Amino acid sequence: MVVEKILASLEKSNCVTDNTFLQAVSEVLTSLEPIVKTDSRYEQFAILERLVTPDRIIQFKVQWLDDNNQVHINNGYRIQFNNSLGPYKGGLRFHPSVSTGVLKFLAFEQIFKNSLTGLPIGGAKGGSDFDPKGKSDYEIMRFCRAFMRELYPYIGARVDVPAGDIGVGAKEIGYLFGEYKRITHNYDGVLSGKPYAFGGSLMRPQATGYGVVYFAREMLAQELQESLEGKICTVSGAGNVAIHTIEKLQQLGALVVTCSDSEGSIYDPRGIDLSLVRELKEEGRHLSLEKYVERIPGSLYTKKSDYPQNGHAVWQVPCFAAFPCATQNELSFLDAQKLVENGCVSVVEGANMPTTPDAIELLQREGVLFSPGKASNAGGVAVSEFEMSQNASMEKWDFDKVDRKLDELMRQIYKRIALTAKEYGVERNFVDGANIAAFKRVAEAMILEGV
Ligand code: GLU
Repeated sequence: MVVEKILASLEKSNCVTDNTFLQAVSEVLTSLEPIVKTDSRYEQFAILERLVTPDRIIQFKVQWLDDNNQVHINNGYRIQFNNSLGPYKGGLRFHPSVSTGVLKFLAFEQIFKNSLTGLPIGGAKGGSDFDPKGKSDYEIMRFCRAFMRELYPYIGARVDVPAGDIGVGAKEIGYLFGEYKRITHNYDGVLSGKPYAFGGSLMRPQATGYGVVYFAREMLAQELQESLEGKICTVSGAGNVAIHTIEKLQQLGALVVTCSDSEGSIYDPRGIDLSLVRELKEEGRHLSLEKYVERIPGSLYTKKSDYPQNGHAVWQVPCFAAFPCATQNELSFLDAQKLVENGCVSVVEGANMPTTPDAIELLQREGVLFSPGKASNAGGVAVSEFEMSQNASMEKWDFDKVDRKLDELMRQIYKRIALTAKEYGVERNFVDGANIAAFKRVAEAMILEGV
């Protein structure tokens, strides 16, 4: 009842273009339905209503010059959603699809993800509709500098610490950090995901993907007494998260047979050649995956226009475990049907909300282990927090230390959400487990700090 009322009022106050935000809120509130009545303070302090309303939405104009001295203007944003658990924390996305609606969804999800890490970080997200594809290095540098000129008054090591996301990697964070330093003369851990040369943490680039696999390994071991060794896995995406998910899966002896970009998908039955994918995609190279099949005989490229209707080529491939690591809503109901039909036992999200609500429902109904991104992809932001820690204490941790801490943290997240699901009578429903466990921590903090 309370939940329905909040959703209805949100639908009225948000525009239709905010549908991903409404989708994310609806999923979380539905999970929370059984617990909102268990503690009268939630209603008394209007916790749910406050939780679905961002603290502030900052929007600014970013003007920059291309290599021909032509002026361009993009929208820049930072959405600071909730800082009850710690400084606002979350990535910056540079992609033409970026809008307040998309960022509200991502910032909202980030509150819960960050809460699940058990670390002191609040939820935020930002970015721009700037498209890095096809831009020269100098153009990207000028854009990042212009972006930071607008953003810098709103961030700080104890205020709000942005990081990367789609379209923003160590290179962009380096340019953003350089500009912040030039403006403020302050060498502070105000961004995470920095290059190692000036304050970045070892393993931050690998963290999200490796964390996804550590989570999957633990979930499969605990729930099914299974390992990933020798298993066929499918991965979508070819960006930072996908590449490091594939890398760790391969290290654990899995056979990864797919990857994809926004234009098409690769199927390589002998196992994805990761060094070739890196050659095509890393460091801002946006070369087509079509080039992969020219080099690897026996592999197959499917253009997006040839995908099944309402489906994705990657999810048509039989697998033991599927890892959607590209973007939101990329695994549909029909894809889920296909995965079930092909005997897939688990779907572990690497991207943020890549599976549609009806697909999740089907997977869960059919007994496929499903992990939401806010749990399984939390390794990235967790290592960002490790970076904040290292910056604050002027320390540098070695690779093994970060790796061990990440593995331990991902196992803890699995444990926390599995136990919570059990406690609330929804065993193996990791969506509810994650939402409830994350909510309880944030709600308690909100109550304790007063209105
Ligand atoms: N963009 C990443 C995420 O979705 C990382 C955020 C961060 O490191 O602050 O969690």
